[in-house]
Amino acid sequence: MITWLQGEIVKNKQWCPALYSLTIKAPPLAFKAGQFVMVGLDIEGSTIARPYSLINTPDAPLLEVHFNTVKDGKLSPHLARLTPGDKIQIANRASGLLTLDETPDTPHLWLFATGTGIGPFIAILNTAKPWQRYEKIVLCYSVKTHEGLAYHANFKALQSRYNEQFYYLPFVTREHAPDTIHDRITTYLDNGKLEHHVGLKLSAETSHVMLCGNSNMLTDVTTLLEDKGLRRHSRREPGQIATEKYY
Ligand SMILES: Cc1cc2nc3c(=O)[nH]c(=O)nc-3n(C[C@H](O)[C@H](O)[C@H](O)COP(=O)(O)OP(=O)(O)OC[C@H]3O[C@@H](n4cnc5c(N)ncnc54)[C@H](O)[C@@H]3O)c2cc1C
Repeated sequence: MITWLQGEIVKNKQWCPALYSLTIKAPPLAFKAGQFVMVGLDIEGSTIARPYSLINTPDAPLLEVHFNTVKDGKLSPHLARLTPGDKIQIANRASGLLTLDETPDTPHLWLFATGTGIGPFIAILNTAKPWQRYEKIVLCYSVKTHEGLAYHANFKALQSRYNEQFYYLPFVTREHAPDTIHDRITTYLDNGKLEHHVGLKLSAETSHVMLCGNSNMLTDVTTLLEDKGLRRHSRREPGQIATEKYY
């Protein structure tokens, strides 16, 4: 049984058709960067709720979620229509294992996201922890069109701040866009271009990999990583590949 916190919309930012971020004022909620929370709305007499990653850092005063609308979806089109002052429900407990304290110590952290699957990595990379812990961090952020690279400016700022510690690779698959890679993450990984680009090897000895997004990307990248000797990570059986599937 979910206990709900009553939240209020502070801002609804539309990045491009079907892509949004909501900023929400809510009572304090303890969570770790990378976790998700159930978000709900009362629709026609019942509460419809779905999980969404919290993209703000745990010490930020407001909550933030980043989402795309799903055609005929039960919740996401309603979230897109919210305006400041509207009420929204937030579960009082966050969950999820795509967090740094579930991650073994390695020199290199590799992050792969498609679309709104960037959520957990926005929260993680905006905290101090990963920069204190990893020698190198590689972020591959893949979207269909350039305007879908919603948090590009945030990552460019981190790149300026952390220089050679951070490799930020934006991928745009359906159009050519300046300073982005026009390829699929899986192709770039499979043909060796990714490792060549950053000058690092993806290996079980040096790497921990986090994947977030749609199941096709998760399955394909996991297969390619397994070919390199990396294994799925769990608390019971430590490995190098941690995933969170959105759909
Ligand atoms: C742990 C977890 C965290 C999540 N975090 C986020 C997040 O931060 N941002 C976010 O946008 N979504 C996130 N999702 C997906 C989200 O919970 C909803 O499934 C999504 O918003 C659709 O809800 P809906 O009620 O509108 O669609 P529904 O009425 O539930 O329709 C479901 C259909 O939409 C498909 N679907 C679900 N998500 C997507 C999508 N993103 N794009 C295309 N098709 C989709 C499903 O496969 C299914 O066919 C997360 C899911 C999980 C399991």
